[in-house]
Amino acid sequence: MFDSAGRRVDRILYSSEYQAMLGKGYRSGVVWRAFEEDSLIPTYLLMYTIAFYDPGICCPYTVSLGTAFALAKYGSGELQAQFLPALLRKDDSVWQGATWMTEIDGGSDLGAGVKTVARRRGDHWLLAGDKYFASNVSAELAVVAARPEGAPAGVRGLALFLVPRYRQDGSLNRTVRRLKDKIATRSVPTGEIELRDSEGYLVGSPESGIYLILEILNLSRVANSVVSVALAQRAMADALAYAERRTAFGKLVVDHALLRHQFERRFQSLEWAFALAWESVRLLDQVRAERPPYSDRYHLFRLVAHLAKYWTAELAVDTAKWAMEVHGGLGVLGEFGAERWLREAMILAIWEGTSHRQILDGLEVMERKQAHKLLFAHLATITPAQALEGLESALEQLLHLPRDQREIEAEALFRRLAIVSGEELSRRESAEDRDGQW
Ligand SMILES: Cc1cc2nc3c(=O)[nH]c(=O)nc-3n(C[C@H](O)[C@H](O)[C@H](O)COP(=O)(O)OP(=O)(O)OC[C@H]3O[C@@H](n4cnc5c(N)ncnc54)[C@H](O)[C@@H]3O)c2cc1C
Repeated sequence: MFDSAGRRVDRILYSSEYQAMLGKGYRSGVVWRAFEEDSLIPTYLLMYTIAFYDPGICCPYTVSLGTAFALAKYGSGELQAQFLPALLRKDDSVWQGATWMTEIDGGSDLGAGVKTVARRRGDHWLLAGDKYFASNVSAELAVVAARPEGAPAGVRGLALFLVPRYRQDGSLNRTVRRLKDKIATRSVPTGEIELRDSEGYLVGSPESGIYLILEILNLSRVANSVVSVALAQRAMADALAYAERRTAFGKLVVDHALLRHQFERRFQSLEWAFALAWESVRLLDQVRAERPPYSDRYHLFRLVAHLAKYWTAELAVDTAKWAMEVHGGLGVLGEFGAERWLREAMILAIWEGTSHRQILDGLEVMERKQAHKLLFAHLATITPAQALEGLESALEQLLHLPRDQREIEAEALFRRLAIVSGEELSRRESAEDRDGQW
């Protein structure tokens, strides 16, 4: 926390192997490629590959992308010139970003939970407040949600600020109260941040803050979906490798009918989840330049992103639990690694908005923007519309129920919509595969 002269420095020490691994992702273009190649696909492909080995390290990449994205899309020319080049460097001097919204009172209801206040001071703002979950805590730049003094209550009064690690005079602009002791994602340090007259620069207008926050969250939710699929795939690969060498009752465990059937069924679910996650990537790539008021394509994307975040994370947890069971007693021993996937998966289901949040936000975009109709029209290009009529009318009925009843009945239908969408999309992928388009 302090240097040899007694000055507060709050430096996080990493092992050199970690820094080499982290740096490799940045050098490979997990952030700069999105801008140079004008596409998010290479970024998510890199994350998919990396997450097969370590889901947690995709967090720094995702929040760095979110910071650069918000700055490039909504920041003033002056702010961009000052900060963007450092985030897009291709060598180890690259700056990292972070996205800090959540406070002690809660992350789901940001409108009520964010108590950090911003006061204007000349060409910049001074922020005061505490962020309770701040991942990539030593990032050089963070985008931070705060309420400008006098702004209305609720989410509409939130604005987004760029907060550098150091003030203009070189002093520390924010301090780390402590680091979190987490069950997983240990490859990203998450801490509590204290903002005390911290210099911040407004990104976009105060009125557009909530849209920016949601756009950043969308980038993370899509990353979460890709990472969840990679984790489920890895857990299954490990389980298969084990079942192919462990014997019981005279034959390999994998050759017993019950287990073989489970493998087959789960491989299929994985394929569907994969298709859903990648559809959220493709749609995001198509709509990423949009600003409010958004198009129907954007609302379609939002629904697919909620379905993908929800379903892939739930699948990752369920698959990781099952993969542990396949390892039998060895599954619970830290030294063999199977239990780690379950710990990692549990975080994927909670951050970037819990599964509850995805269902409720998914219902909202269906109700307000009729996004389910857009989704069915989208799927009709793969499957005759009649095949999905039953599901569509069940959803219509759900949306007309009184609020509490709708929430009580929502999850089963939301899950079905996610699975059916994944199944249909994977059918399209298989066809494209045969035609050599994928
Ligand atoms: C390892 C880790 C790192 C993180 N890093 C960051 C970060 O860098 N930046 C950041 O901003 N945040 C970060 N978070 C915070 C994360 O986004 C929040 O934990 C998450 O959004 C949930 O908020 P909460 O924990 O305050 O739960 P709460 O909002 O308090 O919710 C508690 C429970 O109530 C449920 N709930 C809430 N509202 C409803 C409702 N209307 N209906 C039904 N159920 C409801 C929730 O789903 C949840 O199950 C991180 C979290 C973790 C675990």
